This record gives sequence, structure tokens and C-alpha cells, in this order.
Amino acid sequence: MQLIWLRSDLRVHDNTALAWAMERGPTLAVYVISPRQWMSHDDAASKVDFWLRNLVVLKTALSALNVPLLIVHADTWDEAPAVLLDLCKKHAINSVHVNEEYGINETRRDAAVDFALSSVGIHFQSHLDQLFFKPGTVLTKSGGYFKVFSQFRKTCYTRLHHGVPPQVRLPSKQQALNIPSDNIPEQANGFPTPPEALRNLWPAGEEEARRRLETFADGQIEHYLDERDFPAKPGTSQLSAYLAAGVISPRQCLHAALRSNQGEFETGNAGSITWINELLWREFYKHVLTGFPRVSRHRAFRPDTEAVKWRHAPDDLQAWQQGRTGFPIVDAAMRQLLETGWMHNRLRMVVAMFFSKNLLLDWRDGERFFMQHLIDGDLAANNGGWQWSSSTGTDSSPYFRIFNPLSQSARFDPQGVFIKHWVPELAGLSKQDVHSPVVQGGLFGDADYPAPIVDLKSSRERALYAFRSLPHLQTSGESHE
Ligand code: FAD
Repeated sequence: MQLIWLRSDLRVHDNTALAWAMERGPTLAVYVISPRQWMSHDDAASKVDFWLRNLVVLKTALSALNVPLLIVHADTWDEAPAVLLDLCKKHAINSVHVNEEYGINETRRDAAVDFALSSVGIHFQSHLDQLFFKPGTVLTKSGGYFKVFSQFRKTCYTRLHHGVPPQVRLPSKQQALNIPSDNIPEQANGFPTPPEALRNLWPAGEEEARRRLETFADGQIEHYLDERDFPAKPGTSQLSAYLAAGVISPRQCLHAALRSNQGEFETGNAGSITWINELLWREFYKHVLTGFPRVSRHRAFRPDTEAVKWRHAPDDLQAWQQGRTGFPIVDAAMRQLLETGWMHNRLRMVVAMFFSKNLLLDWRDGERFFMQHLIDGDLAANNGGWQWSSSTGTDSSPYFRIFNPLSQSARFDPQGVFIKHWVPELAGLSKQDVHSPVVQGGLFGDADYPAPIVDLKSSRERALYAFRSLPHLQTSGESHE
């Protein structure tokens, strides 16, 4: 008997480990519920709920293949080896198949499970699935991991020219096994069910993920380059939650994008090229996570920035978290995050830059808050995004290029449509005033909206000073914009 241990690969289509297992014989599937572990990773309640909702749909898809889905509990991953070993013994499992996950805890967990199973002769096999290329196989000429995205991408292009990673065929139905599937819990300990309005924005299941992908690749992708930076427009795919949970695979995304561009990834439609570029950013940050494990230990990628003197300012932190900084674009973005579990990419950069530069708060606190609220929270992408914005990362924005939230606001939400939606207190303002309500003498009617918590000019100087006074500071960096 074969076992597929599902983790961030909650789908039956193009699932490498599932296809391998089913090719080798009768297969069972298992999912391990680990609330205490998830809590220690700051996983958002909306994300855990999304996993559980997807498991419900996946259970039906698996049962159409006659694969029972079992649910086991291991509160932390330390318990995973024993729990899985028990299950394997109970069902006479010979081989356990998984799709590789990255990150220190994930790697340790898998090594421990492999060790426990191998000691009793059960084979543990992991497969490359959530990336195009295995970390450690896209390297510089001197054999190191890339630190600069454009160089990484160039090497990826060369690899893609040799062949685009193929999708895996949906396995055919196996003989029915006399093992019932388990019920999927409606909730995990410590993770409250999010409001229905949030859940409705992110319907579970592969069908929904494929619908989003097809709709995007059939139309919007063509305008992606021009529209992706405008948060009031539906300019991006909104697939991140599905990609992070593995409800859709990056290969499915890549193939759809290639189809929209006559099979080209470097030339042709600029929208498709740019979107594929984003899939490669996703790839890059996972390679960085593997090549430089310190980033998953809350360490700055660039040791020279570890000495930045971040401010301790709980009131500023709270104002930012609650969307009450007095900067409408920042507040609108934070409120979008709180209500929907998602934030537009342009605004993730704006609020993270505002946090780490204007407020000079430790990026790790912003990273954690994002993780605790994002339905698409992903250690590699979130850490990469935060370290980029705070100029502490691999390929980060140079410390002296600080976004001005007001000009970002005027440029990317020119009519104030996004702001007025999320900060209705400001709905009555003109499109000029809405970006900076405190225009003349700090008065803008009776609206319950705070005055700015920080002065942009002096806080910018303060950030420049904090970075400039670092010993051995290097200033290289690359545009993410
Ligand atoms: P699209 O624009 O349609 O892009 C398609 C896919 O490419 C995304 O779904 C995502 O998987 C990937 N992608 C796009 N941009 C990036 C990027 N810059 N880095 C890595 N992958 C990317 N993305 C996450 O998936 N999880 C996170 O926790 C996360 N945290 C972030 C934190 C900060 C501070 C920043 C600046 C960015 C973060 N991102 C994160 C990247 C990006 O903002 C989101 O992937 C994107 O907004 C998701 O929306 P979409 O699916 O419509 O993206």
C-alpha cells in the first residue's frame, strides 16, 4: 500500500506525489492537523480555514479516484514521525510519498519522518512539485545560490529553453479500498472561523482555482503589465492563496501563461512575460529560503543591516496594524488585509516600506502581522517581500529609495477609488485631497479619521540616517517594481 501525505499540495490534478503513489499501487491519502505548529508559524486563521475548506473539496475529488483521505493529529511536527509511523503500520504502508516543502522546520520534520519510517523499512520519497527547478540546481557559475533576481531569472530562462516542466497526468481511478475517509474538522484548535464575507471571497477547490486561472489567462493577462499596479482594478490573478495551499500548481499557471503567448516566455505579449516573471519571483524566494536558511530564522539576509536601530513604538505599530496612520493609502491597504485576508502587491510594498522606513519599525514585526492575517501567507514570499521593502534582503530596494506614500497614492490610485472604498470616512473628499486629507491646518470636516502619525520628510531623514550610520553598509539592490 502507498501513502500520499498531503501538505501544501491540496489538489488531484498535476500532483507529482499523488501520481507517483497511484502508479505504484493502491494508495491512501493523509493530512496531518498541527494547530500548535501552525500557531508557532503565525499562520492566519483565514489560511487554516482555507486549508480545511479545500480538504473538504479534495476529499470528494480523491474519492472519485477511490483514494480515501485520512486525517491524523500531531499538535506539533515533533509528533509527526510517531503519528505517521502508527498509521503506516495500521495500513501496511510500504512507501510514503510527499511533495517537497521548503523552510527549516519543514525540512527537519521530513528528515525525522524519513528516519522513523526507514528504520522499519518503509520507503519515504519526496518529489519536486511546488517549484519548476529544485533548489540547489539553479546556481551561479561559482556554484552558489543566486542573490540577484535578474541573474536567477536568466538562468531559469536558459533552463526553460531546454524544456518547460511538464504537467503530470491525472491518475486513473483505482480499485475501491475498504477504508472510509475521515471527516474533515470544521475548525482547528485556536483558529477561529473567519467571517462568511471573507470566506466567500476565496471559494475552495481546484475548480475555482482553475476558473480563476483560465479567466485571467484568457483575458486580463494581456493587460497585466499596465494594470497590475492599480489596486482599484482587478489587474492581477488573485491566485496567491490557491498557489500557497497548492490548490493549483505553478506548472498549471506557467502552461496557461505560455498558451496565452504562443508558447513564449521571453518575447511576445508583455503581460504574459511579466506574469511569468512574477512566478519566477515566487520561485526565487523559495530558492533563497533554501540557500540561505537564516532568513527563516528571523534573520536579515544582509548581516550588515542587523545593526539597524529599529524604534520601539507600540502606538505607531498599533496604528499601522489597525489602518489608522492618517495616511489614507496605507490605511486602506491595511483595512483590505484585515477584511479580506489579501492585499494588493503594490500596497504590500507601500505599507511595508512605510513601516520599516517612515516608522522605522523592525520589519520582523510587520512580517509577522502579515503572516497572521494573509490567506496567502507564504514564508518565502512574505519574508522576501519584507526584506526587499526594508532593504535588508537579497535583492532589496536600496535603502535610500524610500517610497513616498502620498505620491504612490496619487500615482496608483489617482481617482482615490480604492481609498474611498476602504476608508469610507474620506468618501466625500475630492480626488486631490483624498490622498492627504490634512491639507490646510489639519482640518477636513468631522470625519473620524486620524491626523498623520509621522512627518514624511523628517522620518525619511531618520531612516536614511539609521542606514547610513551602519558600519560596512553596501548599497546594491534591484528593482522589484
Ligand atoms: P499576481 O500578480 O497575479 O501574480 C501571480 C503569482 O505570482 C502570485 O499569486 C504569487 O504566487 C506570485 N508572485 C507575484 N508577485 C510575487 C512576489 N513579489 N514575490 C513572490 N511571489 C510573487 N505573496 C505570497 O504569495 N504570499 C505572501 O505571504 C506574500 N507576502 C508579501 C509581502 C510583501 C511585503 C510583499 C511586498 C509581497 C508579498 N507577496 C506575497 C507577493 C505578492 O504581493 C503576492 O504574491 C500577490 O500580491 C498575490 O496576488 P496575485 O495572486 O493576484 O498575484
